[in-house]
Amino acid sequence: MGDLGVAVVIEDDVDVRNLLDAVLQQAGFEVHSAGTGRDGVDVARQRQANVITLDVGLPDIDGFEVLRRIRQFSDAYIVMLTGRDEELDTITALQGGADDYIVKPFRPRELRARITAMLRRPRVSSGDDAPSSAESGPAGSAAPSGSRRGTVLQHNGLALDTETRTVALGGTPLGLTRSEFDLLHELLKGTGAVRTRADLVRVVRGEYYGEDTYISEADERAVEVHIGNLRRKLREDPQDPRWLVTVRGVGYRLAPKRAE
Ligand code: CA
Repeated sequence: MGDLGVAVVIEDDVDVRNLLDAVLQQAGFEVHSAGTGRDGVDVARQRQANVITLDVGLPDIDGFEVLRRIRQFSDAYIVMLTGRDEELDTITALQGGADDYIVKPFRPRELRARITAMLRRPRVSSGDDAPSSAESGPAGSAAPSGSRRGTVLQHNGLALDTETRTVALGGTPLGLTRSEFDLLHELLKGTGAVRTRADLVRVVRGEYYGEDTYISEADERAVEVHIGNLRRKLREDPQDPRWLVTVRGVGYRLAPKRAE
C-alpha cells in the first residue's frame, strides 16, 4: 500500500487518467484506475479506496450514478471531475455525498493541494466502529477528560469532538462527510460570529485557497449545498434553527444558545 493509502481513478480519457495516476502516485498513494463507471464501482470496493477521483462523463453509467453506488459501501473522500458545462449539475451532486469537485482542465498542482489539505483532516468516521461520544464521559460533565487532548464543542444538544472528529446529536452519532464536519466545526468555533460564504470555501478547500484566491459563485454555491446537507442531517427546522442560521447575502452563523 502507498504511504497515504489507496486512491482509485475513475476516468475514461486515457490522458487524464494517466495524469491523475501520476499525480496521486507522486503524492504517495497506491493507485488503481478504471475506465468505466461499473468497473470503477468494483475497483473502489475491492481496493477499499481512501480517495476516489470520479469523472462525471463516463461511457456506461455517469459519475452521479457511480457516486450513488459507491456511497452505499464506502466513505472514501470523493472528488468529482467535471467539465465547465457540467459544473452546476456537479455542485448539485454534492448532495449525493461527494466531498468536492474540480473543473477540467485542472492544474495537477491544484488537485494535489486539495488532496493534501484533505489528508491533514482525517476522515470523519461514520461506520459501526465509530467511537460513540457517549463513551467519553457522563453527559454534561464539565470535568477534564483525562488523557484526551481533543475539545468537545457543545451547542443545543449537539456535541462535536475535534479529536475523534465525531459529531453526536442527543448522544446519537451523526455520519458527516469531511466537508460537512469542517463547516460545522468552523461555525461552532465562531460562537455566533458571521462566516461569509468565501470564508467557508476556504475552510472546505484548505490552504490552497488563500486570502487572495479568486472564489467563484460556483465555489460559494458548493458551500450552500454542503450546508443544506448538514441541515438535513441535523433535521434543522428552517423556521427555527438550533444551529445554522443564514445571514442573507453574506453567509452563516451559529444560532444562539438555548436554555436547557
Ligand atoms: Ca469523460
